[in-house]
Amino acid sequence: MKNNYDIVVVGGGPGGSMAALHSAKGGANVCLLEKTRDIGYPVRCGEAMGEWAIKQFFEPKQSWIAADIKRSRIVAPNGIPIDIPFNKEQAYVLNRRVFDYDLSLMASKEGADVFTKCYVKSIDRNDENGYDVHLDYLGEHKSIKTKLIIGADGIESRIGRWAGIKTQINMRDMESCIQYSVGNIEVDSNRIDMYVGDNWAPGGYLWVFPKGDGAANIGLGIGSKYNRKKSAKKYLDEFIENKYPEATIHTTMCGGVPCSKPMAHPICDNVMLVGDAAHFINPITGGGIAAAMKSGMFAGQVGSEAIIANDYSQNFLKKYISLCQKDFTKRHEKIYKVKETITKLTDDEMNQMALKINELPPHKITLGKVFTTAIMKKPSLIIDVMKMFAGF
Ligand SMILES: Cc1cc2nc3c(=O)[nH]c(=O)nc-3n(C[C@H](O)[C@H](O)[C@H](O)COP(=O)(O)OP(=O)(O)OC[C@H]3O[C@@H](n4cnc5c(N)ncnc54)[C@H](O)[C@@H]3O)c2cc1C
Repeated sequence: MKNNYDIVVVGGGPGGSMAALHSAKGGANVCLLEKTRDIGYPVRCGEAMGEWAIKQFFEPKQSWIAADIKRSRIVAPNGIPIDIPFNKEQAYVLNRRVFDYDLSLMASKEGADVFTKCYVKSIDRNDENGYDVHLDYLGEHKSIKTKLIIGADGIESRIGRWAGIKTQINMRDMESCIQYSVGNIEVDSNRIDMYVGDNWAPGGYLWVFPKGDGAANIGLGIGSKYNRKKSAKKYLDEFIENKYPEATIHTTMCGGVPCSKPMAHPICDNVMLVGDAAHFINPITGGGIAAAMKSGMFAGQVGSEAIIANDYSQNFLKKYISLCQKDFTKRHEKIYKVKETITKLTDDEMNQMALKINELPPHKITLGKVFTTAIMKKPSLIIDVMKMFAGF
């Protein structure tokens, strides 16, 4: 580990690895620092990702894919399923342990120095118009000088706060999530299931994402206000007991997902935030892998340009914000508006919706149709829904 890097990336998730890869590709001297022992583990994710989303970056490798998803099912509060075959699109349930690890290998292949068991403790402005990054590496204290920090340190991000970026999130947008990786169940390994309604997951949804061989990720996210009455764990345990009593639980993980609007200003002088650290998550689905990768890629590109231009001011870095806006943050803002309407639907309204949608001929049932029906009460949002699905 050198004492000096042009760019220091904090966090070895998909956002961090893409940031390191593209910083190195642009010619910057970059290191990636990850606090855990293994990149890719522990997995805190349902691991679903659209095929189109991966293909924006790489041709998917077979080892990344646990299950090929060809259809989805939304289950209404009264148990009525809506089956939605995918037309052109297809999705995957990934092996994120392998996927994340491979992304970090790609970053190192491009020239980034990657360090694990490397916990960033604090950052300080130095008198060379940059930052000192203080860390514990394999139990020893060390400081690195850098011109630019890319904060890819996930939902618990502290880089932004330390640098003075406004990172607060409204608690009503924070979802409490819990997920079990289970085995010994019978599931369709080409279909993802999502259960909606107050009995399954109030203010959120419950997912069953197959991983092949009788295994699946089963988890849920509920709005923070519901967590007080009954815990997310209780909702999940009741579901498993009811639907998959034979399931064996192999991993348990809990976490928060910021289903908020994206952060409006995830930069300041010498610092950019990417992925979850910048609240770049689809506010309805809670999916954030693609946005983490995209924002990491943009931050790496703009960061390496900043090194060449010898300008790390927020004025230079704001190009990063416009790249994200054009690509996904504007869309996430629209999705947030749609979410505000959808979360107000009562169980009865959702049940009626399910009946109405199931009257359609099967080939006319699409995810777009489901959302359009859901917001019929507020027609002005239909345009937003259409835009949301165009290009997905
Ligand atoms: C229950 C659950 C289910 C989800 N399911 C899906 C899904 O199915 N599909 C989807 O697209 N998204 C899903 N997500 C969201 C997805 O996991 C995240 O959006 C994605 O991982 C964000 O990537 P990231 O690189 O920004 O952050 P992360 O993947 O969280 O990576 C951040 C990294 O930073 C490291 N770090 C933090 N602080 C420090 C420090 N001080 N020093 C060094 N390292 C540090 C962490 O150890 C971590 O490895 C889910 C999230 C949860 C909680």
